[in-house]
Amino acid sequence: MAYETPWMSDPSKLNKMELWKIEKDGLDVIRTIIEKYALEGYDSIPEDDMNRFKWAGVYEQKPRDGYFMMRIRINSGVLTSTQARALASIGRDYGRGLIDVTTRQAIQYHWLRIEHMPDIFKRLEEVGLYSYESCGDCPRTIVGNPLQGIDKDELMDTTALVEEVNDFFLMNRDFSNLPRKYKMSISANIYNNAHAEINDLAFTPAVKEIDGEEVIGFHAWVGGGLSAKPYLAKELDIFVRPEEALKVAVGVTTLFRDHGYREKRHHARLKFLVADWGPEKFQEELLKLIGDMPSKGISKTVGWQAAYFDGVHKQKDGRNYIGLNVPVGRTNSDELEQLCDIAEQYGEGKIRTTMSQNIIITGVKDEDLEAALAAPVFQRLTPDPKPFMSRTVSCTGNEFCNLAIVETKERARRVAEYLDENVQLDEKIRIHFIGCPNGCGQKHIADIGLQGSLVKTPEGMVDAFDIAVGGILGPGAVLNKPLKGRVKGDDVPAVLAELIEFYKQGRESGETFH
Ligand code: SF4
Repeated sequence: MAYETPWMSDPSKLNKMELWKIEKDGLDVIRTIIEKYALEGYDSIPEDDMNRFKWAGVYEQKPRDGYFMMRIRINSGVLTSTQARALASIGRDYGRGLIDVTTRQAIQYHWLRIEHMPDIFKRLEEVGLYSYESCGDCPRTIVGNPLQGIDKDELMDTTALVEEVNDFFLMNRDFSNLPRKYKMSISANIYNNAHAEINDLAFTPAVKEIDGEEVIGFHAWVGGGLSAKPYLAKELDIFVRPEEALKVAVGVTTLFRDHGYREKRHHARLKFLVADWGPEKFQEELLKLIGDMPSKGISKTVGWQAAYFDGVHKQKDGRNYIGLNVPVGRTNSDELEQLCDIAEQYGEGKIRTTMSQNIIITGVKDEDLEAALAAPVFQRLTPDPKPFMSRTVSCTGNEFCNLAIVETKERARRVAEYLDENVQLDEKIRIHFIGCPNGCGQKHIADIGLQGSLVKTPEGMVDAFDIAVGGILGPGAVLNKPLKGRVKGDDVPAVLAELIEFYKQGRESGETFH
C-alpha cells in the first residue's frame, strides 16, 4: 500500500467492501482474472474477488450464471476508427455483437465469459483502450466535450488535459482505494457538454484577467452525483489555469480518499462530505494541500445543450460533423464498423460518443457530405431522428443488470416510438428511464425522468415507474421534481402522451417544457 490514512488505523467501523479492499487492492484482481479465473472458470471465483471485478471494469450480468458486462473507458468519448474497429471485433467475437453507448461516453459489452477476459484485455490494450477502473471505487472514465479540438463553442482544446488527468489516475495505486466511485468531467464547451454538475469533480470554462492579460482556464465544482440522494456539485471560489488542473484534481481526490466516509456504502460518495463540510471548508482544506489559487474569474458557460448533436453542423475548421441518433444507446458491431468505414472514407477517422448515448462522426468536407449521408447505416442511426426517439435515454435495466427492478431499454424504445406516432410537438422533450434508484440513466436531469419500481395490483406486483419533471443543467441547474403517484409500466406511453398534451394545451407563448 503506497499511503497511510487515519481510517486505516481503525478498521472496526469499516464496511465489508472496505475490509476486502484493505486485504487486496481492487486493481490486483486484474492479474488474478488473467492468471487464475480465466483458466479455472466461473465457479472458481469467490465472493470477495467477484466484488473486486469492478476495478477491471467488469460486472456479473443478470442472471448470475457465468456471463459478464464490461465497460470500456473512452476519454471525452473520442475514439480513432482503429480503436472503434477493435471494439466492434471484440463485441462480435465475445459479446454477441451487442454494443451499448453509456451515459458516461463508455462502450458497454454484455455476454462476456471469464475465459475470454485475457484476450479482451490484450486486444483493448493493443489499441490503447482499457476497461480498468471504468467501475469500482476509483477515478472512473473522465467525461468531456466529444467535440474537443474541433468545436466552435469551446474556449480551448481539452484533449491533452483530459489525457494528462486520465494518465495520472489510471491504475495509480495511490488512488485505487477511494471510499466509493469517483467521477470527473473536463470540458471547455460553453454549453456544458460534459454535464459538470452531476460529477464528483468538474472543470468548466472560465476566463480571468491576471497581470493585465485575459487567461483561459476553468472553474472547479465538487460534490455532484445522482442515485437515491442526488446532489448538484458546488462551485469553488478558485480559478484554475489549464496547467494547474491536474494539481486540483489530485488535491480533491486526496481529500476524498482521506476524509470520505467509509462506514456505509450508500453514504460514501464525495457529495456527502461536501454537503457536510460545505464548499468553503472543502476549499480551505483543498488549498492547505495544494497551496493558494486565484479566486474565481468569469464563467463562460452560457447554457446546456444536454450533449445532443444530431444533424450536420460546422466545425471550427470549416468541415462538418454528423451527429447520429443511437436509439436508447444500443448499437452493434456491424453498425460500428460501417460507421468506421464512413469516418475513414469521408471524415477524419474518428468516432465520438456522447453523454446522451449517441455517436458523432467528424471531419467531413462539404463536398463529401452527400455521399457520406447516403450510407445505409444512417437509415437506423439517423442524423435526422424523430423528436422523442432523439431525446430518449435509458440505463441497462433488468435485461442484464442485477440491481434493476424493471426492464428499461426496450420499454424506453417503445415509449419513444409511441410518442413519435401519437404526439405532435414543436419542442424536443428529454425522457430518461432508470431501472432502480442508482441513476445510471441520469433520470434526475431529464425533462421527464422515470424510475423503475413495483406496484401492487389485484393480479400481483407489476412493473411501475415514479415520474419526475423539470430537470436541467447549466446556469439555473435544478434536479427534476417527483410527481405524485406511480404509473404501471404498461400505462407509461399513454400517461406521458397525456402529460405532454396537458403541457401543450396550457403553455404560454415562449414557454418551454422546463
Ligand atoms: Fe442497473 Fe439501476 Fe444502473 Fe439501471 S440505474 S443500470 S437498473 S444499477
